[in-house]
Amino acid sequence: MQIARTPLLQSTEYGLYCEHGDFFVDPWRPVERAVITHAHSDHLAWGCSHYLLAKAGFAVARARLARDASVDTLEYGEPLQIGGVRISLHPAGHILGSAQIRLQHMGRVWVVSGDYKLEPDPTCASFEPVPCHVFISECTFGLPIYRWPTPDSVFQQILDWWKDNHANGRASLLYGYSLGKAQRLIAGVAKTAQESQSSLPGSIHTHGAIEPLNECYRSSGVELPPTTRVSQADKSMDWSKALVVAPPSAHGTPWTRQFGPSSSAFASGWMRIRGTRRRRAVDRGFVLSDHVDWPGLMAAIDATGAETIYLTHGYTHAAARWLSERGLDAQTLATRYQGERDEAEPPPAEPPAPMTQTLDQPIPGPDDEGFR
Ligand SMILES: [Zn+2]
Repeated sequence: MQIARTPLLQSTEYGLYCEHGDFFVDPWRPVERAVITHAHSDHLAWGCSHYLLAKAGFAVARARLARDASVDTLEYGEPLQIGGVRISLHPAGHILGSAQIRLQHMGRVWVVSGDYKLEPDPTCASFEPVPCHVFISECTFGLPIYRWPTPDSVFQQILDWWKDNHANGRASLLYGYSLGKAQRLIAGVAKTAQESQSSLPGSIHTHGAIEPLNECYRSSGVELPPTTRVSQADKSMDWSKALVVAPPSAHGTPWTRQFGPSSSAFASGWMRIRGTRRRRAVDRGFVLSDHVDWPGLMAAIDATGAETIYLTHGYTHAAARWLSERGLDAQTLATRYQGERDEAEPPPAEPPAPMTQTLDQPIPGPDDEGFR
């Protein structure tokens, strides 16, 4: 009997390709068929002929694709046979609709994590470990120094900062990535106030890049407190009461002058590192990430029971070395995913730098030496 000798996914110049099903996973260039983990731009390429993604993420993906893009969806856990591959999507806990992609072929199971986190998030389904033979994991914060405080404690800090600003006559300008982080911030602050039975100091306002995504979340059934676009606020608005949520790219622009005296803050995993807040020239930094931290990364890898781990985007070499020293078959895999870079930095003006690892080498698979 002929045994399939091709690995389930191969790295190509277009992205991760599944030959047995003739589709790509999160391609970075337009392809015929794309299976998508989530709607952040480094995972959702424009111009593909056909997309498959989790139903919960349909509205946000639709908002980011061409009007006539062909998009099919699957419920979490719902199987679909594509060619010789059984495919299913499982919650990744990263943003609304984010999914891990499970691929099964001839008894072998591969899982592509996309971006993920383990902490609870009221705006999306929680991460579920998926047992597999091969796990392709993000590694954005793959160093032991990255450990997240509990989200509840961070939301309490944000609420206290907002109250303090109000008491001192300053508007509160809070920066976070417009898809996912902004909605998590808005929902989290409101929930924390509700649970501590304290009232919000004032109303929540949003930058124009964020409010349409809030609407996508609401239309998908996610509960968010009322928010108003800054441009639609009353002319007599007292901004010292307001929490204004905006993407990081708005920081330092003339747009911020309309609020008068203000305090600025970033919410990002990078705020864990001393000096980042100062470099970003903000008054406060809140450590809140939609990516897995170091202990979470190790726990997630362990929970899959995977024999082989490929680490993409982030501190891949350090994490691979750590895992290898503990007897696991862990390797790095170059991709064009950017992780949380776009949450804390302005978008790059130039296309991403050339890859340091060639992309035309197939990922070693079940039949390759390293796998055993
Ligand atoms: Zn992402």
